[in-house]
Amino acid sequence: MDFKSLGVCNWILRQLNEIGIAKPSTVQTSCIPEILKGRDCIGVAKTGSGKTLAFAIPILQTLSEDPCGVYAVILTPTRELAYQINDQFQIIGIGMGLRSCVVVGGISTSEQQLELDKRPHIVIGTPGRLADHVENNSTFSLSRVKYLVIDEADRLLGGGFSENLSTIFSALPSKRQSLLFTATNSEIVSETVKACPNNPFVWECDTAVDTKTVESLEQKFILVPVNAKNCYLMQLVLDTRSSRPRDSIMIFVKSVKLAELLDRTFKKLNVCCSSLHSNKSQKDRMAALSKFKSNHTKVLIATDIASRGLDIPEVQLVINHNVPKDPKDYVHRVGRTARAGRGGKSVTFVIPTQIGLLQAVEEHVNVKMEEWTLDENKIAEIILQVNTTFRECNIELESEDWDERRNIHKRKDQILQGLDPEVEDAKKKKVQLKEQIKFKKDRRKMIKEAEKAHKFSTPLPEAK
Ligand code: AMP
Repeated sequence: MDFKSLGVCNWILRQLNEIGIAKPSTVQTSCIPEILKGRDCIGVAKTGSGKTLAFAIPILQTLSEDPCGVYAVILTPTRELAYQINDQFQIIGIGMGLRSCVVVGGISTSEQQLELDKRPHIVIGTPGRLADHVENNSTFSLSRVKYLVIDEADRLLGGGFSENLSTIFSALPSKRQSLLFTATNSEIVSETVKACPNNPFVWECDTAVDTKTVESLEQKFILVPVNAKNCYLMQLVLDTRSSRPRDSIMIFVKSVKLAELLDRTFKKLNVCCSSLHSNKSQKDRMAALSKFKSNHTKVLIATDIASRGLDIPEVQLVINHNVPKDPKDYVHRVGRTARAGRGGKSVTFVIPTQIGLLQAVEEHVNVKMEEWTLDENKIAEIILQVNTTFRECNIELESEDWDERRNIHKRKDQILQGLDPEVEDAKKKKVQLKEQIKFKKDRRKMIKEAEKAHKFSTPLPEAK
């Protein structure tokens, strides 16, 4: 199968050829002809499978036949993903004079307004800022939109964005093509599919052979003591840097503060790195990402804002500083490596009380992970230095009122998005409480099961 037989027109074929894309991927083979026929489409495809071009190619093809603005709206959950999708549209659309605009937070609204006044063909945005323009920019109209794309649909439809989404949806014409793409088929996506009135084309990667992670990914875990986690991390990075100096490493951590602390600790210990988290300005986030993408820094420490869909061509190692509570987050994180048929490795740190979480991940991805060990003597040599530097960085953050500034920054962002910080805080606390209760319940269940298994495997004492 080639792109021509899918009905892709000549100018796009030339463009694909130019960037070295010769054969369509399976998601493209299945979805492009159906989208070109005018059908709504729901694609469940692994990250890195080429889903962006699966929707970008038909949109650009039909746009070139009847150019108008705004022709398509693409919604995605993170700012970085919005820029990445824009890059792919621009690469293919450059020959047709494509005008596209990225509408995300962290950038001046008035500058964006000027861009939108130029009537771009394609608007790619995150829900909060786009809803803001829909509500407050009287010259901005979505009434002629032909395509709505919801990328990372499980994340967007799964709550948090619902108010913004309804603002955007109400500004769109009812006669339009809707395309929904997701890496994980959650309940919410299945519900949406059921509610779709237009008999959408549904494509899902073969679930019978779907292991959720690709075969070329080597998946390992390391058992680490809680108080030496950062030393293990440092040692693993140092080992990788010396044995494979060209490798790029992505480290995922569970909180913004930890990302910042590890970034500072690594820098103080002369490990060149950058970090990506929500308490950085958009300019700094873009700078960190482009330094990493262009190989200027080989180590990127990030929160889950970088876990979805980011296409960084050469990541060889993903380190999970913790086992994600939701196995789907694990799939997104490790999906940053072993992309487009290349190999890659993931190493997940597990503290003794989190073995159950690791097993849940193994079950979800249907892969038994191998244990990996590091040289304990080397760790003993650096433990004091790493822990002391980490504590120093913590004191530094406290003296800078980092937490306080972070809160102010967050509340400002919420107000700009038209949200009430108090209401958002209350919502977050409710979700956290629910999660805590569920987590405790699951742990109790796990412990009970482990005790039961232990009882049966222990030989009964000999009868006297
Ligand atoms: P995505 O899943 O959309 O994030 O795409 C992942 C990467 O695969 C991007 O760098 C694309 O440029 C690349 N890509 C998309 N389609 C193909 C294809 N048919 N052949 C090779 N690479 C592709």
